Amino acid sequence: MTEDHILATEGLSKSFGGFHAVSDVDLRVRRGAIHALIGPNGAGKTTCFNLLTKFLTPTTGTIRYNGRDITKVPTAGIAQLGLVRSFQISAVFPHMSVLENVRVALQRQRGFSFDFWRSEKLLRRYDAQALELLDEVGLAGDAGRHASELSYGRKRALELATTLALQPDMMLLDEPMAGMGHEDIDRITALIRKASAGRTILMVEHNLSVVADLCDRITVLARGRVLAEGDYATVSSDPRVIEAYIGA
Ligand code: ADP
Repeated sequence: MTEDHILATEGLSKSFGGFHAVSDVDLRVRRGAIHALIGPNGAGKTTCFNLLTKFLTPTTGTIRYNGRDITKVPTAGIAQLGLVRSFQISAVFPHMSVLENVRVALQRQRGFSFDFWRSEKLLRRYDAQALELLDEVGLAGDAGRHASELSYGRKRALELATTLALQPDMMLLDEPMAGMGHEDIDRITALIRKASAGRTILMVEHNLSVVADLCDRITVLARGRVLAEGDYATVSSDPRVIEAYIGA
């Protein structure tokens, strides 16, 4: 039986002028997996993410999501199909309260309506849902605070809540642990594991102990190409992977 892949690219390539940033990448992400995309600096990870979310148009190749060719679907349409990107590009509005941040994300998901602001009942319903999401990421006690007052780790937890509000089937996480200390890493690792229930996660992450702990499948990129793929034990003992990291 063939595996069930929620996301599959074929021959995905992107050139900038004559430079091949991503070359002929066949990426297969199994439904329900926590899959990591790793590789030394300049390997093409960010370019890959930008291609998947249509911030960039592929030079050649195709992207299939849930069995559908999404190569020509624009960024906004991708999110509507349940493929949502989070982190790195911050989605937090600093001058809104923590609760309002999640409420706005819920509104976005349901489709904005001007009547919304006049309907107390609707507002209360959204706030109740927002509180549930905040509770899930351990921020219920911070609901009334300004987002700008949150610590870095808590801001990232808020980003996760706003992403979850969009009800994604699959989340693309951009270096979720970037700039974090041990405690925050443990907190976000636990949140990602919890958020992965019933959905698929593809993440770019530099912290390899997090990748080893969290991810069941890993694709290693180097110089725009797939160098190795497998579980952490397999890829981390692959001499080509070791060479790519040492030689980078
Ligand atoms: P990674 O995320 O793995 O560090 P990137 O995808 O950011 O790698 O970059 C891959 C390569 O493509 C790098 O050599 C980078 O300099 C180059 N690159 C990325 N974006 C552009 C661009 N807009 N124009 C030209 N070169 C780019």
